[in-house]
Amino acid sequence: MDKSLVFYCILFILIGEFILATVMNYLNAKRFKDPIPKDLSDVYNLEEYAKSQDYKLTNYKFGIFTSIFSLTLILLFLFFGGFAWADNIAQSQSENIIIQALIFFGIIMIGSDILNIPFSYYQTFIIEEKFGFNKTSKATFFVDKLKQWAMTVVVGGGILSLVIWFFQWAGTNFWLYTWALVAVFTLFMNLFYSKLIVPLFNKQEPLEAGSLKEKIENYAAQVGFDLQNIFVINGSKRSTKANAYFSGFGKEKRVTLYDTLINDLEEEEIVAVLAHEIGHYKKKHIIFNLATSILLTGLMLLILSLFINNPEVSLAIGVNRPSFHAALIGFGILYSPISEITGLLMNHFSRKFEYQADDYAKHTYAALPLVTSLKKLSKNSLSNLTPHPAYVFMHYSHPPLIDRIRNLKA
Ligand SMILES: [Zn+2]
Repeated sequence: MDKSLVFYCILFILIGEFILATVMNYLNAKRFKDPIPKDLSDVYNLEEYAKSQDYKLTNYKFGIFTSIFSLTLILLFLFFGGFAWADNIAQSQSENIIIQALIFFGIIMIGSDILNIPFSYYQTFIIEEKFGFNKTSKATFFVDKLKQWAMTVVVGGGILSLVIWFFQWAGTNFWLYTWALVAVFTLFMNLFYSKLIVPLFNKQEPLEAGSLKEKIENYAAQVGFDLQNIFVINGSKRSTKANAYFSGFGKEKRVTLYDTLINDLEEEEIVAVLAHEIGHYKKKHIIFNLATSILLTGLMLLILSLFINNPEVSLAIGVNRPSFHAALIGFGILYSPISEITGLLMNHFSRKFEYQADDYAKHTYAALPLVTSLKKLSKNSLSNLTPHPAYVFMHYSHPPLIDRIRNLKA
């Protein structure tokens, strides 16, 4: 392999992905003004519909701007020796390759995150604010950033150090040890994320006794689901948008409801949403997703191990000498078309699972409260009721509202 060939591959991938994403966004935007399907005519009134149109268009334009910025930034970095600059700093600080890698990634990741702050600031305090979604204070915004960085340094830095240590010790077999490490970490996070990480950002309390809790417990008993942990999280600290999710398994399984969800929906609708979440568990979607993500990580690490000792993969990003950390960057870009494809597959399964969970809620509880809750949630997040099928195929982890409602009413 020749390093300029690899360099051109990298350019081709970066620009190709940009063009693909832009075309998809454009196709989707062309349907913003499509007539609303009859089954969804009661989601918005005229004024809300106009507001949702405005919201979609604002986000579309902002998306064009940010994606051009990101592409330009990485191209400038590639053409003007940005990676070599970060690599030279890393090398001048230490002889140890683990410390070099930590400094290198520290510069790249913290640097790109700082450059992205104005964009996420604009998204939160101008766009979300304008449409009435934002509840985040400026203090929360910046404290969140600091906490995220601290987590990246501790967790990301820890894992990166171990991976390079495996590499020094086991050569190309490092991928097997890394795979085991990531698998254990993924399982651990799935079990304890709600207990360990969520409290760093939010308050969560057990759902208080009352008619809602009674209804949920009655339903859970009826389907034979041992539900000990129902928590309410203060999502309203950051946004008015509502959500509910399931996490963990075995004794650690828990359902988390946003306080915004409890405010927006009737009790029957909340039970219906919960029935959908329990459906995911009963239909083994949680286990399937975990197992697949671990398998896909294994595949990626195996391919990485075939490329990692190839000096061209490092040199193609413009550094002066090959290294594990430079090869990781080069590999990350070269692998991205494959991860786009595995992402498509995962989205495909995810959409299928949504229908299955909806069916579960329909058969064990009722379809109507789920229909009305989905409509309310769509209305309250000003969501797009007429997405382009190609865009759905690529990006949607959930089927469009109209398809879910047709399935629930069938
Ligand atoms: Zn779901």
